[in-house]
Amino acid sequence: LEYSSRLEAQSKELSRTALQLRDTNQKLTQLSEQKDAFLSQVSHELRTPMTSVRAFSEILRDEPGLTAAEQHKYASIIHDEALRLTRLLNDLLDLSVLESGAVSLNVSTRRLGDVLDHALSSALAGADGPLQIIRDRDREAVEVETDVDRLSQVFINLIANAQKYCTATDPELRIHVRSNGDRVEVDLADNGAGIPVDFHEMIFEKFSRVTPERAGGAGLGLAICKEIMRKLGGDISFLSEQEGAAFRVTLPIRLKIEEIR
Ligand code: ADP
Repeated sequence: LEYSSRLEAQSKELSRTALQLRDTNQKLTQLSEQKDAFLSQVSHELRTPMTSVRAFSEILRDEPGLTAAEQHKYASIIHDEALRLTRLLNDLLDLSVLESGAVSLNVSTRRLGDVLDHALSSALAGADGPLQIIRDRDREAVEVETDVDRLSQVFINLIANAQKYCTATDPELRIHVRSNGDRVEVDLADNGAGIPVDFHEMIFEKFSRVTPERAGGAGLGLAICKEIMRKLGGDISFLSEQEGAAFRVTLPIRLKIEEIR
């Protein structure tokens, strides 16, 4: 009897192990599929600018009768495409460092308003677009202890997106800060067309963009923001019930190492 119950226990153990193996196998297949999809997206994103660079440099090299204006135009295209490639590679590298967990944080204390000032001037520098910024500086007096550069990077991305994608006649970006116990919430909401509902779910995924237009980026910006906020013990979410595009950045007032995921 003892022998048979031991056999039964062993056979249960075996089927549990078999199930675990199957799970692991499924996860591995899924990871490998994700990796393939990622590589194919990266190659696609690289190919488009590379094709332009090749075509326009060939014209410059082989066409004898180009006017100075034409030469300038083609050289400018090559230059823009090279910048685009550099941005893409920098974003990919940044994302891979953030995802690998090898990122080191540089924590200091700063008024939230100062972080926003810096992000606004950096995101809007040079572009004298019509985007109006609406702020309440009193609420921004709160001090945060965090990686200020990384937090600023998130704000820069959101402000630059509002500048790029908000198509309202009088584009506005409202920045609203709310202190909530040991956390602080920063809402950044524009008055543009917003983001289509069936896109809300994937807005923070890599390479997701509403229209794959040439003027925009590769759809990595918000994925980077998501990773950064996770590292800062906070989060970023899309406020879908609002008109326009509205994002909420939440972070602890003091970054605690054990909060980092
Ligand atoms: P990208 O580098 O393409 O700007 P993001 O990840 O920052 O990538 O944004 C992803 C996509 O979300 C954009 O391509 C755009 O289609 C949409 N989007 C982001 N911000 C806004 C906004 N403020 N208004 C409308 N659409 C936006």
